[in-house]
Amino acid sequence: MGRVYNFSAGPAVLPEEVLKEAAAEMLDYKGTGMSVMEMSHRSKAYETIIKEAEQDLRDLMNIPDNYRVLFLQGGASQQFAMIPMNLMKNKVADYIITGQWAKKAYQEAQIYGKANAIASSADKTFSYIPDCSDLPISEDADYVYICENNTIYGTKFKKLPNTKGKTLVADVSSCFLSEPVDVTKYGVIYGGVQKNVGPAGVVIVIIREDLITEDTLPGTPTMLKYKIHADNESLYNTPPAYGIYICGKVFKWLKKLGGLEAMKAINEKKAAILYDYLDQSKLFKGTVVKEDRSLMNVPFITGKEELDAKFVKEAKAVGFENLKGHRTVGGMRASIYNAMPMEGVEKLVEFMKKFEEDNIK
Ligand SMILES: *Cc1c(COP(=O)(O)O)cnc(C)c1O
Repeated sequence: MGRVYNFSAGPAVLPEEVLKEAAAEMLDYKGTGMSVMEMSHRSKAYETIIKEAEQDLRDLMNIPDNYRVLFLQGGASQQFAMIPMNLMKNKVADYIITGQWAKKAYQEAQIYGKANAIASSADKTFSYIPDCSDLPISEDADYVYICENNTIYGTKFKKLPNTKGKTLVADVSSCFLSEPVDVTKYGVIYGGVQKNVGPAGVVIVIIREDLITEDTLPGTPTMLKYKIHADNESLYNTPPAYGIYICGKVFKWLKKLGGLEAMKAINEKKAAILYDYLDQSKLFKGTVVKEDRSLMNVPFITGKEELDAKFVKEAKAVGFENLKGHRTVGGMRASIYNAMPMEGVEKLVEFMKKFEEDNIK
């Protein structure tokens, strides 16, 4: 069997070109006679890999010099603790709850200080983004936290919240590098890479320099201090070396494609194929309010559980994998990250049309 169309929310599809390159370099990376997996993280060859990865990411996102780029471990979830441990000077932070990942981050922050839920879309199963133009931001808040793209529910902040001057911290795991961002609007941007950038095991943290201090909460483990990783250029200990190498390849793939403007145009076109069909379908419908729809994660339902299950089963049989929705939303979810080819979405929609014809009376 060949490659399937993998609509998984994560770990997710990677560019075929990147996988082929990695395969070609598996036994002998550029004449070193070894795989990147076997290489010292202090070697010349690896130094080039990690430095180039950082520079390519800086180029892609137009990251200003007063921001540091850290390649860390522990997934996005580790940041749920690392952020308060490093940033909670007043022990107060405001959280906007737009789904499970934001909620988990909020709950974790409560261990370390006073975390306030200042807005939420839980009342409608997180199917929209709340109005964040005039929220009750705490006067002494160390930061305001958002999950910018909600992987499970398929919503995305199209406009950043008005933080009233407070530092914005954003989990961008599932929209990382999907479109251009103005890094200067954030104090911290971070994401687990296994959604849109690389293999699981790496989390990338882009953090403004003034937020990196010695002044962390008492008891903060050395490994959870931004400063130790920044001072050591992400090489304090052995980093997730192979994962970073693959991320670097994905950055180069994105640059070759034309950067994030070009990627955004492709993503918009790709998502429109699916949303346009959903909007006129008599069988399927999207679960998110139109203006807050994600370009990356598209949940949809038929309204009948048996029919949803039948769809997922029949889709799988013809090579569309991982379309089952998250258990809290039900139905289906197509994650159509950067590396999902246009053709994958076109074929999925063709298949949905056929399924609709066959199953509607
Ligand atoms: C997947 C995901 C996480 C959790 O990532 P881990 O690397 O498994 O900890 C957090 N936030 C968002 C938005 C995600 O999509």
